[in-house]
Amino acid sequence: MRQTLVLNASFEPLAAVSPHRAVVLVLQNKAVVEQARPGLRWRAAAVEVPVPQVIRLRRYVRVPFRQRAPWSRRGVLVRDGHRCAYCGRRATTVDHVVPRSHGGGDTWLNTVAACAEDNHRKADRTPEQAGMRLLTRPFEPTPSDALLLALGPYDRKRPPAWLSVPA
Ligand SMILES: [Zn+2]
Repeated sequence: MRQTLVLNASFEPLAAVSPHRAVVLVLQNKAVVEQARPGLRWRAAAVEVPVPQVIRLRRYVRVPFRQRAPWSRRGVLVRDGHRCAYCGRRATTVDHVVPRSHGGGDTWLNTVAACAEDNHRKADRTPEQAGMRLLTRPFEPTPSDALLLALGPYDRKRPPAWLSVPA
């Protein structure tokens, strides 16, 4: 399905998101539907909403177009979809690829989501020293990713269970 355009409260275009994500933002009361796709509805147990083509945020979001997205632990978990970079299972901790004791910093490129077990196993070592392999390479979020991080956690691969595509 085609992407949904996200407008800032001031109507300037900010980003494109999946229809899943757009519906969740509307249901979380963070955005309003400006334009819907004709004839298409999302149905759930208690709600039915039009599939948004364009949504607009209720609150103005200041987007750092030139600046970098500020690093945060929560941001790393959201960026990596709460998946462990070493085993792919659910991650609840943030691992420094190059440990802080070895001079590694709190940066997007030096941190990955990790499950508590792998984080503990890797301990104060680099992946090479620990004999562990990164399944994904850490990356710096783009400004539009940063916007999505600012709007709160969302697991892209798993929309809420109650959200289902009409037949
Ligand atoms: Zn793991």
